[in-house]
Amino acid sequence: MDSDEEFERLRLQISGTARQMHNWGELMPLKWILFEHLIEINKKERKDFITFSEMVDMAKHPDINMVDIDDVLDFLRFQHKVGNIIFFNDIPNFIILNPQWLIDAFRCLVSHDIDPKLQHRNDWIEFEQNGQISESLITELFKSKLGSRCLGQTENLLKVMEKFDILVRIDKTCLYIMPSMMPSISFDDVCKTIGIEQPQCKRTSWLCLKFEFLPPAFFNHFYVWFIRRYTPIKVSNGKQSLSSLFRGICIFDLDQSKCTKLLVTMSTDTIALQLLSFSDEEKDFYSICSNIRKDLIEQSEAIKRRYDLTIFYELHFKCSNGRYYESTMSHADLKQCSQYYCEQHQTVHQSEEICSPWMRDVYEHKMTDVSTKYDRQVSVITLEEENYLRIVILIIKVAKRAVQVTFDNEFHPLVLQEVIRKEYPVLMKLKKRE
Ligand SMILES: [Zn+2]
Repeated sequence: MDSDEEFERLRLQISGTARQMHNWGELMPLKWILFEHLIEINKKERKDFITFSEMVDMAKHPDINMVDIDDVLDFLRFQHKVGNIIFFNDIPNFIILNPQWLIDAFRCLVSHDIDPKLQHRNDWIEFEQNGQISESLITELFKSKLGSRCLGQTENLLKVMEKFDILVRIDKTCLYIMPSMMPSISFDDVCKTIGIEQPQCKRTSWLCLKFEFLPPAFFNHFYVWFIRRYTPIKVSNGKQSLSSLFRGICIFDLDQSKCTKLLVTMSTDTIALQLLSFSDEEKDFYSICSNIRKDLIEQSEAIKRRYDLTIFYELHFKCSNGRYYESTMSHADLKQCSQYYCEQHQTVHQSEEICSPWMRDVYEHKMTDVSTKYDRQVSVITLEEENYLRIVILIIKVAKRAVQVTFDNEFHPLVLQEVIRKEYPVLMKLKKRE
């Protein structure tokens, strides 16, 4: 075989292998590579977690010689980012060296193979039926599966699991909600439970985030965010008051009167939201809805950043009593046409009617044309105005300075006088042309 060809084959093979390395393309100081190697040795010795001070001691190893705490923190954050370890700034004394160990701990909670002794506990029944788990049951489950591998680490493990939205602590209790274990219920049953079909229930259109692919775990991050932000409603089964949190569906009260509710649900590729009002007073929901939409989008970006996910979605809408999981209309399409044909209702809907409950800030300028009522009530800056102001600030404040810097780079102030003198005829010619 031609030796050049052989070399080329080898070169491709090496670069292919290198590209598969998780930190390929990152510039890493030599100290970091040695430190990473030391961590690998600890992992091989089945050390699952260590404290921050142990990590600092390791960093002082003569070959590594990393003595600055900030350098150690930078290293740990990087290792967490690439998935080598699990480290959170606010839980410094629990650094998980072996991420698989956390997965094993999580498996303890969702396993079907449970010690029969535990299955007789009341809190086990509560967990199975309502997805709420007590701290003492968690401790027992860890103990029965991991044995000494998790001794005394329940509290820390719970903190880390909360960070990953695997569990949510119910305020001021020793109880946790586990979104992936919430009871299943059909959407129609939820509707019946809260009386959506009742004539006094007014519903906005559906706001949908339509994903190319929506992993249930991604929805769980939203789910946890909603639970922390809003108050889940209580539903009654005749005997007792139950939580309204179900797998893939949750309902929240938005105010004390409980007349305004937020319904959040998901399908295979969509997260859908709808605002419900049982009040007979005429209320303006536009600002509530717009704020929810903005928060939701901001949150989805935050989740993507936090978990380093590449997930795409589009903003869609659906008529108020339409099925949120099929034939939704994209905002981009709705902007193109003033009305559209709804297959489900075999009728035409006005695009603005479908979008406006959730897009007040965007549509406001149009609404003020039709009615000046909102103009007096609200002095909100629309998105277009905001962008316009940004451009103005950019031109007046930033651009001037940027041009000055670039100019000084091209013609250093020390030689400027000389350049002007030399190029005077050219400059005058250009000035005249101007
Ligand atoms: Zn429709």
